[in-house]
Amino acid sequence: MAQNGTTDSGVAGGTHAPSFPQPVKVQEIRHTKIFINNEWHASSKGATFPTLNPATGVKICDVEEADKAEVDKAVQAARAAGRSGASWRKMDVSSRGRLLHKLADLVERDRALLATLETMDTGKPFLQSFFIDLDGSIKTLRYYAGWADKIQGRSLPVDDSFLCFTRHEPVGVCGAIIPWNFPLLMFMWKIAPALSCGNTVVIKPAEQTPLTALHVGALIKEAGFPPGVVNIVPGFGPSAGAAIASHMDIDKVAFTGSTKVGQLIKEAAAKSNLKRVTLELGGKNPCIVFADSDLQLAVAETQKGAFYNQGQCCTAASRVFVEESIYEEFVRCSVEGAKNIVTGDPLDPRTSHGPQIDQEQFDKIMELIESGKEEGARLECGGKAVGDTGLFLQPTIFSGVKDHMRIAKEEIFGPVQCIFSFKSQQEAIERANSTEYGLVAAVFTRCLDRALSVSAALETGTVWVNCYNALHAQTPFGGCKMSGVGRELGEYALAEYSEVKAVTIKLRETL
Ligand code: NAP
Ligand code: MG
Repeated sequence: MAQNGTTDSGVAGGTHAPSFPQPVKVQEIRHTKIFINNEWHASSKGATFPTLNPATGVKICDVEEADKAEVDKAVQAARAAGRSGASWRKMDVSSRGRLLHKLADLVERDRALLATLETMDTGKPFLQSFFIDLDGSIKTLRYYAGWADKIQGRSLPVDDSFLCFTRHEPVGVCGAIIPWNFPLLMFMWKIAPALSCGNTVVIKPAEQTPLTALHVGALIKEAGFPPGVVNIVPGFGPSAGAAIASHMDIDKVAFTGSTKVGQLIKEAAAKSNLKRVTLELGGKNPCIVFADSDLQLAVAETQKGAFYNQGQCCTAASRVFVEESIYEEFVRCSVEGAKNIVTGDPLDPRTSHGPQIDQEQFDKIMELIESGKEEGARLECGGKAVGDTGLFLQPTIFSGVKDHMRIAKEEIFGPVQCIFSFKSQQEAIERANSTEYGLVAAVFTRCLDRALSVSAALETGTVWVNCYNALHAQTPFGGCKMSGVGRELGEYALAEYSEVKAVTIKLRETL
């Protein structure tokens, strides 16, 4: 596990124990172009955009910008690759699985390089990139590799004069638009089930974080996927993203990002060709901590939920409801924990907290922190920038938060934990559900009956009991209410990427 990748880019020396994986010394970024038909293309209008390192503010490189013309070209390539008779469609399904396994092997080979690129582009701590994002990416590929030859229809009893069966066929060309908080992982969450079901893909990484997606483009080619099966169009939301959402020849679009843009995607899909839409959007996720819970566990897990990835998670544990009798102790322990978080250079393996992604997000978080202070919440710790370089923000905790405050209602997408107090189980459930969002929730208790009844009452797509951010490739993930439409991961995601065809045959003779 703790081994460096075998990239040819060389490995940086370090002062840490050799058993720690180390970042790779990246001399140059090799893949900065648009990936269509297994070839690298320059922008047709000659445009590029910079991608920055949020820890330093320094430009990493310029990337060729895909616009509508490139999306059109990518869709043509994807359509041709998925046409019946094309090698991708004729391939036996086990070979499809083998290609996904081969891609997983190559991602494992380049693990340290991919983790380094992810950390440079997003600012997330290197060990989190290496162990969590890369691990999740590899497991997602292998999980769906295993499904490729197990996706099957049914035969259906009607009467003896008919034979009815279903075929689970690919949907066709699948568009995908992904965010900057988990660039590689979201790339895999989209392409792995799509490819397992035999679709072709046109995917747009976020403009802030295109680098790992483009490196995987090279690995897709190296793995031996036929040209056009996966096409990667780095570019901007209102141009390349909108071109995907409104394209007349894309059959499905899968989106992860803000609720506001999710609404635009669904509208564009409706107004163009009624393409299928799956959306994974925001959250204002409640944790309910009962007095009978393991307090240290609840503090640690809710803290991880609030501050993991600098709070830039749709699953962020942003509303922590704590039973009155343990409230003060919970706040005290949480503040103690927050002060121990190591903020610093994300490439240093000792760092557990990096910078925010960009100035816009940084300013939005600071503005919400100010609103919390003005509205009367108690700032227990944090609330300030760290240093003058990069977009570092202290892990921040507010206590005495009331449900009407902006920090209690709006998605902050930053390292801000809001702690509320409650008196009764019923009150906690009602307040937890009193939001337009419904992504995830958590319950902390030692009582099994309570864990089960509260889990049933929470209006979210996921409930974690005595844990947080426990995501697995096997387990469906997605939201209720304005947190989304459809499910990713697990067997459930296969339905989002397949079309069910019923075939009914009239038999000539019946006995
Ligand atoms: P966003 O605007 O929703 O961006 C997500 C993706 O959608 C990006 O690839 C973006 O392209 C693209 N996009 C933007 N406008 C589009 C349009 N009109 N049509 C098609 N695609 C479009 O999210 P953001 O600006 O990165 O972050 C803003 C907020 O979104 C955050 O504060 C947070 O609340 C939420 N967010 C949620 C998640 C999540 O995991 N659910 C992830 C990230 C952000 P660009 O690269 O040009 O932006
Ligand atoms: Mg960047």
